[in-house]
Amino acid sequence: MKEDFSASALAYFERHQEETLEKLSQLIRFPTISAEYPERQAAFSECAIWLQGEMSQMGLENAQVIPLDHAPPLVYAEWLEAGNSAPTLLIYGHYDVVPVDPLDQWSQPPFEPVVSGGRLYGRGASDDKGQFWAILCAIEACLKSNGNLPLNLKILIEGEEEVLSRHLAAFLEENRERLRCDGILIADMEALHPQAPLIMYGTRGICMLEVHLQGPNHQLHSGTFGGGVENPLNVLVRLLASIQDGETRRILVPGFYDAVQPLSEREWALLEEVPITEEMGVAISGAPALAGEEGYPLKARISARPTFEVHGICGGYCGEGVKTVIPADVTAKLSFRLVSNQNPTIIGQLVKQYLVKQTPPTVILEVSILDEAQPAIIDCDAPLIAAGKRAIQRGFGALPKFVRGGGSIPILRPLQEILHPHVLLTGFGLPEDRTHSTDESIALSQFYNGVRSVMYLFEEVGKLP
Ligand SMILES: [Zn+2]
Repeated sequence: MKEDFSASALAYFERHQEETLEKLSQLIRFPTISAEYPERQAAFSECAIWLQGEMSQMGLENAQVIPLDHAPPLVYAEWLEAGNSAPTLLIYGHYDVVPVDPLDQWSQPPFEPVVSGGRLYGRGASDDKGQFWAILCAIEACLKSNGNLPLNLKILIEGEEEVLSRHLAAFLEENRERLRCDGILIADMEALHPQAPLIMYGTRGICMLEVHLQGPNHQLHSGTFGGGVENPLNVLVRLLASIQDGETRRILVPGFYDAVQPLSEREWALLEEVPITEEMGVAISGAPALAGEEGYPLKARISARPTFEVHGICGGYCGEGVKTVIPADVTAKLSFRLVSNQNPTIIGQLVKQYLVKQTPPTVILEVSILDEAQPAIIDCDAPLIAAGKRAIQRGFGALPKFVRGGGSIPILRPLQEILHPHVLLTGFGLPEDRTHSTDESIALSQFYNGVRSVMYLFEEVGKLP
């Protein structure tokens, strides 16, 4: 490897910044909304073919569109010329985006990107088209300036992340050999602020349930039947309240905390460094005051501790004025965010058993598990993480903070278990990017720093023993 590997790549990138952004705008123009697949099939095929062409043009090899049954195609490419002795990094990203409604609240159409005030606006600009595009730009700059890389690369871009990557784990299983690697890079996150880039070393899992209670076989007059027939809505409210202690906010389902790994001393120290305060929580949420589990600061409660939420209750009468009925049946949607090593399937069963026990014989209970994702934890001592820390510091001019993420990345655990446990999970977005919302954008400065970080990362990973 040449001494000035990243310097020449950087110079190349700086000469081609305009084209890079133009290409990213083209990528954003494909309306690849995975929640609207298969109606959007054409957009997915066109985008996948476009990506394949771009990846070949960048100097990557074996670029291909891989069709999947009943799902958007994958796009794959590789560069394996660094040889058997060099490490192989697998890069994962997603080219699908979330829906755009309410459309009338966008300042410009979501799939007609514009640059304004140092930001590029458009659906997917930050999540995740802009972020994986930054990685591809770094690859192109390295290959076109140096003609080589100090490591091997395999790039896998999927089109189903926003709808829980339902088909990807099976593909990983079937293609273990082809995807064999020494570590994985994912850029699909938001830094805390421009001077606080991050490395995420964990994500929460989730168990989503629906609870249904059947009372009388039709709505009843509460004057005629009230006091004699069970009201399923009253039971539902009692049931939901019985899940969590109102004071300590501990979840009361027996066995719920059995597998929870407590925060280590080192994790507490890492948490100290995270610049999130209770005041910020109040200001950003607009809530009158914060709530959460006793004994943990806000930044631990929103990332490293399990939660219980009721997302919706349906039943009875909520229209204008009064209608004094005893509803026939009622429904609630709930979820539990889970931390390492809780298993969502086991938690679902525990919750089900608990609710069955709490339910009186006056109503019929049905509990269904709607979806689940495993929590994940990444070893902070992995050499890839150390390389990532140095690269991000060089690219952003600030040391990355180590955080556990409060959200869930369903494919993270399968990637770790099937391909490699060491994942550098980072991101070039910012909280103000409004991902999943209207007027999504990415800050160009973050994008450029992201490209730089990835060039340095290739250099750093190439030096690993
Ligand atoms: Zn994403």
